[in-house]
Amino acid sequence: MRPQDIIKKKREGGTLSQQEIQFLIDGYTSGKIPDYQLSAFTMALFFQGATREETVALTHSMLHSGIVVDLSTIPGRKVDKHSTGGVGDKISIPLAPAVAAAGVCVPMLSGRGLGHTGGTLDKLESIPGFRVDISLDRYVEILQQIRVCMIGQTHDIAPADKKLYALRDVTATVESIPLITGSILSKKLAEGIDGLVFDVKVGSGAFMKTYDDALKLAQNLVDIGRMMGKDTVALLTDMEQPLGYCVGNTLEMLESLDVLRGGGPDDVVQLTVELGAYMLKLGRSVDSIEAGRQKMSQVLADGSALEQFLQLVKLQGGDPDVIMQPERFRRTAHQQAVLASRTGYIQSINSEEVGIASMMLGAGRERVDTVIDHAVGIVLKKKVGDNILKGEPLCFLEYNDDARLQEASRKMEEAYSIGDCLPEKRPLILEVLTHS
Ligand code: URA
Repeated sequence: MRPQDIIKKKREGGTLSQQEIQFLIDGYTSGKIPDYQLSAFTMALFFQGATREETVALTHSMLHSGIVVDLSTIPGRKVDKHSTGGVGDKISIPLAPAVAAAGVCVPMLSGRGLGHTGGTLDKLESIPGFRVDISLDRYVEILQQIRVCMIGQTHDIAPADKKLYALRDVTATVESIPLITGSILSKKLAEGIDGLVFDVKVGSGAFMKTYDDALKLAQNLVDIGRMMGKDTVALLTDMEQPLGYCVGNTLEMLESLDVLRGGGPDDVVQLTVELGAYMLKLGRSVDSIEAGRQKMSQVLADGSALEQFLQLVKLQGGDPDVIMQPERFRRTAHQQAVLASRTGYIQSINSEEVGIASMMLGAGRERVDTVIDHAVGIVLKKKVGDNILKGEPLCFLEYNDDARLQEASRKMEEAYSIGDCLPEKRPLILEVLTHS
């Protein structure tokens, strides 16, 4: 086989065999096939698309470029959640321990924030001492002990994806549904799971800005996941405003702890309960989604989800005292309000702008090697549908360094749109997809 013949076949709209796709992915991962040939291939695939069978072959080759963790020593089904990423999306933090407290094992490999979206690992690292870089052997041990573990992707998980994603990032080939599907599934299936719930975000702060694009991605993830032998469900959820009131690592951890204590903002609680209900159903620990919702609400209210999180923090090296006394988290030296320029109702909050403003304060990364400040971020005082008087605070910027404070403040002013009428309420859960 020659790479150029396979590239040409895809360029002409042909359908590739499993062997041809495997040949390209193996060759690229081992360094035998150079970047320029894979760049041409990904661009051909970008324009020509891929059949479901080709996407399965791509996912399979990427998955088996590294280790697939064996969790067969742990009884019961193992289920995870994947979010396509949003602003203020801290759901994994209350969700994983709550689902584990409700009886289903949650092996969770997460990512770091890049650009305007945050990452679960950065939020977890706001807990002093918390380690996300533990070995896969230790990950299995922790799962055996407490049914939940939250770590970062190790270098032996889907190395083909790591290399290919970096290439796609600089060759304008990220936005291809088969490539995104292969990338997400190859990492998630390596965790050793039986089931996966996708939270596909739609809106200004999401990777997929339109409903139609999000729907296509969600359907593809569900279908390819099933063809790979896993139980899958996707929820399309609203990202036309940030989730909750807090954006920034420590701030989001504090909001997550409120949820684990049975409180927290309605949208964060609703999404945690809803995603958890589907996870419990895929984990076969409940018979219906309604029973799942009840179980999730119960473990959040009775302290068992918080207790599970406390165990997780201890086993992953974190300081359990800050969980019980959140006032001990390190906070910023300064705070500045952003004031409303007129009276009215909040019509929308552009989540992408909020994410960028938070990044400017130091909460996120412009480049992969940026050092972040866990304490900084934004606390929203108003959300869509709230009324506001001219001069009242829209939000507070929490910061240590004022280098980009004015720019961040301007972004936040622009992110809020204020009008005269009460806007129509948007549902948080837009659609639930099982399989086509
Ligand atoms: N997230 C991923 O993990 N991979 C993609 O290709 C896009 C988003």
